[in-house]
Amino acid sequence: MPLPKAELHLHVEGTLEPELAFELAARNAVELPYADTDDLRKAYAFEDLQSFLNLYYELMAVLRTERDFEDLANAYLERAAAQGVRHAEIFFDPQAHIARGVPMGTVVEGLWRALGRSEDSHGVSTQLIMCFLRDESADSAMETLRAAEPYLDRIVGVGLDSAEVGHPPAKFREVYEAAAALGLRRVAHAGEEGPPEYITEALDVLGIERVDHGLRCMEDPALVERLVRERVPLTLCPLSNVRLRAVDVLAEHPLPAMLDAGLLCTVNSDDPAYFGGYVADNFHAVHDTLGLSTERMRELARNSFLASFLDHDEERRARYLAEVDAYEFTGN
Ligand SMILES: [Zn+2]
Repeated sequence: MPLPKAELHLHVEGTLEPELAFELAARNAVELPYADTDDLRKAYAFEDLQSFLNLYYELMAVLRTERDFEDLANAYLERAAAQGVRHAEIFFDPQAHIARGVPMGTVVEGLWRALGRSEDSHGVSTQLIMCFLRDESADSAMETLRAAEPYLDRIVGVGLDSAEVGHPPAKFREVYEAAAALGLRRVAHAGEEGPPEYITEALDVLGIERVDHGLRCMEDPALVERLVRERVPLTLCPLSNVRLRAVDVLAEHPLPAMLDAGLLCTVNSDDPAYFGGYVADNFHAVHDTLGLSTERMRELARNSFLASFLDHDEERRARYLAEVDAYEFTGN
């Protein structure tokens, strides 16, 4: 039985496995420029963030109907449950779909067909976080927020993703203010490829409650001290960092130093179909390669629930934490 955990940094579009991509392509009569799943799997061996993003957006063409989004989310939830996930806060990228003529309602309602039943069907509680693409304009982000207003009973918060460098958080000040006024929680990718200043700016200007990635905070001791003092969680994605060259090799990942510094770190999978592993695979990788003790692994699992947006249901959070505390490690 895997260690119980929450997953807080997971892009649902990044869970599209080659087999499902071909199934949906056939269903929707979309032609993919790959001969078969093996051929497509070879394309998953990209070099950096941009080459990953190119494939990520190309494959989204197969997602057209509510049923497609439902099938995508169900496939993730089934895998997540098998990896010990009890609670998942799931990102989606509406602008990438709206730009292809797929309306917000199709995306949200389709995902909800899976998420709304997830506790019964998979034993996983869920929340949905809508991300803005930071390489699109601030106006486009604001239009996206307005398009989401009829669906806010389905959406707990907003995030910021895609190509980081050259797109500082302050560009999205107004849309984050509008999101806060609507009662939405706020997170943002910061300090993955971008500098530590982007983390500070996301905290101060966007009012974020959690930093996605954030590993480059380690270059700024004053920032580390602040993140520790304010108990700001970081959602780290170790296998993603290796695949996208944020670190050269996993053995050089700063996670142990970050935990030693007292940072509230969590471990997540980011885009698991593309980055070589789901969340438990990330846990195993850091345990094996970075030599983290079982008590450190338990701390990571505890942190995932402490950092989750379960404030409306503290009883549930306490139940999940009790499961982590009672967990017995058996040789892995
Ligand atoms: Zn991400």
